[in-house]
Amino acid sequence: MSISDIEKTDTYDDSLDALDPGYSSEAEVADPQRLPLPDATQPMQVMWEYVAVLSLVHIVALMVFVPWLFTWSGMVLAIAGHFVFGMMGITIGYHRLLTHRGFTCPKWLEHTLAVLGMCNLQDSPARWVAIHRLHHQHSDHQPDPHTPLASFLWSHVGWVVCRHRDLDRTSRYERYVRDLLRDPFYLKLERKDGWFFVFLIHGILITAAGALVGWLVGGSGAEALRYACSWAVWAVAARTVFVLHGTWAVNSITHVSGYRNYETRDKSRNNWLVALTSHGEGWHNNHHAQPRAAAHGHRWWEFDMSWRVIQALELMGLAKNVVRPKSVADSDT
Ligand SMILES: [Zn+2]
Ligand SMILES: [Zn+2]
Repeated sequence: MSISDIEKTDTYDDSLDALDPGYSSEAEVADPQRLPLPDATQPMQVMWEYVAVLSLVHIVALMVFVPWLFTWSGMVLAIAGHFVFGMMGITIGYHRLLTHRGFTCPKWLEHTLAVLGMCNLQDSPARWVAIHRLHHQHSDHQPDPHTPLASFLWSHVGWVVCRHRDLDRTSRYERYVRDLLRDPFYLKLERKDGWFFVFLIHGILITAAGALVGWLVGGSGAEALRYACSWAVWAVAARTVFVLHGTWAVNSITHVSGYRNYETRDKSRNNWLVALTSHGEGWHNNHHAQPRAAAHGHRWWEFDMSWRVIQALELMGLAKNVVRPKSVADSDT
């Protein structure tokens, strides 16, 4: 089947509905050019605790411009962390595995990927998944939680820091994530902001490892302090900020700018720059056309690093039931 065949026949993948009876595949016929903010965010209430934490991590990340805080090891760890935490945790773990069930894997690996995901300051696995499933159900129609049709800034970060009545406690969004919350591991993380402590602990461990390496390499307390601060700035804060904006860009930029392979009912686009910075997530129009497919690159030039890793996991026998795109003729998969 070619992509043009799918354009005519398969603009929305009903199989997402099977995850939860709360899903509806009813196509909304209106094609709005502008949308108000979702009703559930009105009257607007800013979640100041989110603003404070996100501001702090951005301020610390800006310290990459302080020369005293530069170390090669910090920079290498930041790049490695983009793959280990950003790609393994968010794009492969939170998104393709937990949200869309694009493949299955042993529980120990699934939980490991979820822990890596929590190290990106992007909320608990269940809340992230609930918000994203809501987005797929209503993309660019009400009540999509983060459509750029409301405003670009809203779709990028506004929705993150404003209270949403249907998403502000587990009991309100559990209908979207019943499959996940059946597992006590995810249920526990919902309590007392467990996911946030996972983020804090990973930051402390990386900073402490920096101190140890600095002391071993430099042989002084001053070098231990410099390495600790460097790793905190580069390997924790800067990497977290880069991954945050990569994820947010999928919600904002790839619903505004790029090309379309499929005539989906939303305004999703394929954007090579976002694909590059988010390990393949930028092939977002392909993804909206076939949400469960574990590969987001459907044409040969649409390189998708996360898909290559999932293929490697499959070769190792760790990923099973891998959902492939239907556009076989145009795919190199
Ligand atoms: Zn989208
Ligand atoms: Zn998705």
